[in-house]
Amino acid sequence: MITRFAPSPTGPLHLGHAYSALLGHRMARAAGGQFLLRMEDTDLERSKPEWADLICTDLRWLGITWDGPVHSQAAQLDSYDAPLQRLEKMGLLYPCSCSRADIRAALSAPQEGVTHEVYPQLCKSRPMSDRKPGDALRLHLDKALDLLAGREVHFVETGAAHAGRHAIDPGQAHREIGDVVLSRKGENIVAYFLASALDDAAQDITHVVRGEDLFDFTAIQVILLSLLDLPIPIYHHHKLIRDENGKRLAKRDDARSLQTYRAAGASPEDIFNMLGLDQTV
Ligand code: GLU
Repeated sequence: MITRFAPSPTGPLHLGHAYSALLGHRMARAAGGQFLLRMEDTDLERSKPEWADLICTDLRWLGITWDGPVHSQAAQLDSYDAPLQRLEKMGLLYPCSCSRADIRAALSAPQEGVTHEVYPQLCKSRPMSDRKPGDALRLHLDKALDLLAGREVHFVETGAAHAGRHAIDPGQAHREIGDVVLSRKGENIVAYFLASALDDAAQDITHVVRGEDLFDFTAIQVILLSLLDLPIPIYHHHKLIRDENGKRLAKRDDARSLQTYRAAGASPEDIFNMLGLDQTV
């Protein structure tokens, strides 16, 4: 078993991150496997080495050890070029110049049951030859699903809320995810969905342990991995840690950062208690 913790170093770790890291770490260690640490730092503006350092300090304080060096996505941006080019050659990308305002204006009504925006496909008919500097690149989901038609694309989930085998449902992928950005606007830098899935494959991750908020996006990562003939890991989406009002914790929620608890004299055992985890690291 190889699990990983893949934070974006754009702020301090809070209790929710601690839960995720501890769970992944414990699963790996219990199985005699490996636990890897990956900084998802492709957002070059918001990612800071200071946050990455603090993340390592917080994890060590919790008793977490990781195998091998910390993997930084920003340090190997080149590694994402070939897969992107392959998707382009397969005819699965199109350039997009839409701003947030363009997208909002085109989405006349809030999309029911969808917690994030689904791109309204304004640039869908643009060929790659029309790509302008600064355009984003989006996945042409229709064509991607056509290519995968007839193949048994599915993933296995072991988290309690969605445990079981999930076949990719094209209708649902359209409704809930849509034509996601694979290379970001302005910067020509790989975007989260692709970078994270590619690294899971490159690092031989067998079990992706992460919060339930990412469950809906798993389908797109499985689609990308399938298109590129890469292995699909097992997914384990765990419950989210919420505050007393039921709201899920966010990075900006400094009051619940591990650093704040540590400064106030809390011990790692106090954190385990707060998270309802037993006391073994
Ligand atoms: N980097 C993502 C985050 O910090 C997590 C990605 C993942 O675990 O797949 O929210």
